[in-house]
Amino acid sequence: MAEIVKGQCKCGAVQYSGTRHDAPMFRCYCRDCQQITGAGHSEMMPLVASSFEFDGPYRQFEMTGGSGRPTWSGFCSNCGSPLTRRSARMADRVYVHAASLSDPSAYQPSKVINSHSAQPWDRPTET
Ligand SMILES: [Zn+2]
Ligand SMILES: [Zn+2]
Repeated sequence: MAEIVKGQCKCGAVQYSGTRHDAPMFRCYCRDCQQITGAGHSEMMPLVASSFEFDGPYRQFEMTGGSGRPTWSGFCSNCGSPLTRRSARMADRVYVHAASLSDPSAYQPSKVINSHSAQPWDRPTET
């Protein structure tokens, strides 16, 4: 039985749920993640895209990923909390920001990516 996870934005207007995807949870230091989070990196948990459901004023902003294909940042249009990342390249999953989970302690990263883009004030840490 697939594990169902839930989360929400800061104001509570957007609620989401989905089942866990087998892909690793990761910490990403790319510039997109820095700009989206306002911090040095993001903490991402993959959910199965076809299981992802949401309620509320969820919006997505489209960007061009490192692969040259589109990627999207999903957020609450009321409070602005970053909630998801999706990409055309890995369309079978929706990555959710770990801090948006109802139970953030369920997040256990096993991988660090884009560490070459890390800022000197937020060096990659081992997971
Ligand atoms: Zn909100
Ligand atoms: Zn990133």
